[in-house]
Amino acid sequence: MSRAFNFSAGPATLPESVLRQAQAQMLEFGDAGASIVELSHRGPEFIGVAQQTEADLRSLLSIPDDYAVLFTAGGATTTQALLPLNFANPGQTVDYVVTGHWGKTALKQARAGVVVNIAASGEADGYRAIPARGGWSLSKDAAYVHITANETIHGVEFRDIPETGDVPLFADFSSSIASEPLDISKFGVIYAGAQKNLGPVGIGVVIVRRDLLAREGQPRADIFDYRKQLEAESMLNTPPSWNWYMLGLTVKWMLDEGGVTEFAIRNARKAAALYDVIDNSGGYFRNEVTAEVRSRMNVPFFLHDEALDKEFLAGAKAAGLIGLKGHRALGGMRASIYNAMPEAGVQALADFMRAFQSGHG
Ligand code: PMP
Repeated sequence: MSRAFNFSAGPATLPESVLRQAQAQMLEFGDAGASIVELSHRGPEFIGVAQQTEADLRSLLSIPDDYAVLFTAGGATTTQALLPLNFANPGQTVDYVVTGHWGKTALKQARAGVVVNIAASGEADGYRAIPARGGWSLSKDAAYVHITANETIHGVEFRDIPETGDVPLFADFSSSIASEPLDISKFGVIYAGAQKNLGPVGIGVVIVRRDLLAREGQPRADIFDYRKQLEAESMLNTPPSWNWYMLGLTVKWMLDEGGVTEFAIRNARKAAALYDVIDNSGGYFRNEVTAEVRSRMNVPFFLHDEALDKEFLAGAKAAGLIGLKGHRALGGMRASIYNAMPEAGVQALADFMRAFQSGHG
């Protein structure tokens, strides 16, 4: 068996130790006589996993007590659809700042029942920059302002938290949660699908300031009601228990590695190593994002001649580097370098890129 360095955007690489632990516990969890995925979610084993996972996540992200944590099925897209249902009154305005593909998805999901105001958009500019806060047209009575903290496809990342006054800031952190320390108290809601920095696909987290759960929202079924989900400890119905367990292992791994402070250092080094190769390639490789808002998690880049793309990808694969093909919306290449991507993987990619350039001048 040889595991490649996997630069896929999500589902993404997981720490080998997490996979091995899951493998070791696949047939029997502790002395339960069965796998965790075969046991009742109401039983002591799974309740233990769920509670430990929340405690570890709270510790990893320094989540204040006045914030609730929900574990959700349905991916980040479903969360995007549920935000206006839970936090906006019928007909109320919600503000969206669109800095890439996923911000656009978020606002498309939000439309039902509310008025969506695009407060700012980087679309005209090809999403290469983040519109300056001073130019945003925010609505006075908006239910919330939504941003995408890191745009997974366009490789654009907020490097500071925008001020939104009394209107709570909601942020999609799917591709950058736990990548560096974050002041959660500056947000109303933070949400993320797990399949990049937190573990496997099939589960997500929603971190919500508790007072916001008192909002009436819009008529909705219980299963879509975050207040009811919280009362039921995210188990109104059978939760994705295996994914929850894997998320728990991944969070524990991050704590053991030194937590978000350590990952911030590693992630800055990894991103710098790749941008360095790109910027010093004399135009052979190109990343078009404004330097100050370049993503530390997803590095999209283009070869100077796209006719070489296939050869680049094949060569990379032969060198044990997979998942580098860019998203179809953008083309080119993309290296996703989440917490679980070791620095050795990034170094191997940087070396491969330099060698490719000198071999194909
Ligand atoms: N938001 C962001 C920033 C993403 O990267 C993605 C998925 N790549 C999504 C939302 C959608 O997530 P899901 O597929 O889990 O619904």
